[in-house]
Amino acid sequence: MLSNFLKVQCECGNEQNIFSHITSVVKCSACNEPLAYPAGGKAIIHGKVIEELG
Ligand SMILES: [Zn+2]
Repeated sequence: MLSNFLKVQCECGNEQNIFSHITSVVKCSACNEPLAYPAGGKAIIHGKVIEELG
């Protein structure tokens, strides 16, 4: 399986690259809102996915 990164924009406007297969919640580095939740395989993205990287 290919792993990749997602560029996600938080509601606060911060953009962050998130690994698509995470094992713990990833929070926005600017406002600390959760941006992605682990879901066994692919992450559930809470913000807006701007781009899929590699
Ligand atoms: Zn934020």
